[in-house]
Amino acid sequence: MSAPSGRASAGEPSGFAPLAELQALERDHAIATYVRNPVQFVRGSACRLWDEDGNEYLDFLAGISVLNVGHCHPRVVAAVREQAGLLTHVTNLYYTGPAMRLSAALARGSLGGKVFLCNSGAEANEAAIKLARRARPRGRIVVLRDAFHGRTYGALSATPQESKQAPFAPLVPGFDVVAKDPSALDAAVGEDTAAVLLEPIQGETGIHPVSEELLAAARAACDRTGAALIFDEIQTGMGRTGTLWAYQQTGVVPDALTTAKALGGGLPIGALVTGPRLADVLGAGDHGSTFAGGPLVCRAALEALEICSDPQLLAGVRTLGERLREGLRELPFVAAVRGRGLMVGFDLVEGLAAGDLAQRALLEQRLIVNATGPATIRLEPPLVVTAAEIDEALHRLGELVR
Ligand SMILES: *Cc1c(COP(=O)(O)O)cnc(C)c1O
Repeated sequence: MSAPSGRASAGEPSGFAPLAELQALERDHAIATYVRNPVQFVRGSACRLWDEDGNEYLDFLAGISVLNVGHCHPRVVAAVREQAGLLTHVTNLYYTGPAMRLSAALARGSLGGKVFLCNSGAEANEAAIKLARRARPRGRIVVLRDAFHGRTYGALSATPQESKQAPFAPLVPGFDVVAKDPSALDAAVGEDTAAVLLEPIQGETGIHPVSEELLAAARAACDRTGAALIFDEIQTGMGRTGTLWAYQQTGVVPDALTTAKALGGGLPIGALVTGPRLADVLGAGDHGSTFAGGPLVCRAALEALEICSDPQLLAGVRTLGERLREGLRELPFVAAVRGRGLMVGFDLVEGLAAGDLAQRALLEQRLIVNATGPATIRLEPPLVVTAAEIDEALHRLGELVR
């Protein structure tokens, strides 16, 4: 008969547990922090995913900008397979090649300072906050309205969203929230500011690029006071906007940046990368993590970083992003289109609900998109997406509203 639950191999989808069985397990045993769509994915390749019945889906979310290299990129798969048979973990009490090589590649490929490896985006921001406070003891952290920096206590305290913060008060003290306005930001930064932390494009709250004026004001305020300018590039980085890092398309270079999501090519890893000025602020014993920088995830990240650094791929991201935004503007139910490269958001005309549209896209058109707000849809396909796949996604979206 069928293979045991979950044991079927790729291309042999008949052995997977039925969705209803998973939903029963979830109801009884999984803490209910997620609202899942009623689909079970069992296999992926580049921009495609397959469910347990063998239905094929076009993935325009990439695991929330994690699979920038596409699902199961052959280079990532080969590196992980090899490393899994060699060595997966030894802690940071010892040297392993992948961690040191990844630190060097990240520093050389961005701000030129030093790197702290960790396991997620929130952890990367925790490290950044600790770095800033170590550099300026008891200093305050300035964040922007509508920011998202993660769910752990430090990162949550930097995420000024009532629904996410209020149930978990009291938060970490010392965070100031400013409007996305150059003079408001300038006024909020003083001698007691340790850092200004911001996303160059606010991702979780609807793909809102931060204006050049605001970025320049943040840089100037930090230069004036000695505060650290830290870019959260967890979603914007790894080629998502058409350069390896989003800051490279602005006139502003931060003092440090955080990365995660796509860094591991699908595996969990994060990093804090500093410029030269902050490279030696944290010292022995100041921070640490058991799993951080393990050889398995670092091998995957080395491949992902090299793939996402390819100038030809990055040029493609810019032109394909333009094609996607142009196509969206032609859809009659799209009110506004925003973004850079393949980090794209669009608002729906009144009367359409984004959550409903995203679920219908999934179930009726087998197109994976994400609602980031009541009227906003986010599109972040793998960077290896083709022009034909962009056109196909636009066609499927068009089919939803007629
Ligand atoms: C996803 C995200 C985070 C949090 O990353 P996790 O890995 O979920 O902890 C932080 N900041 C930004 C901008 C993000 O997009």
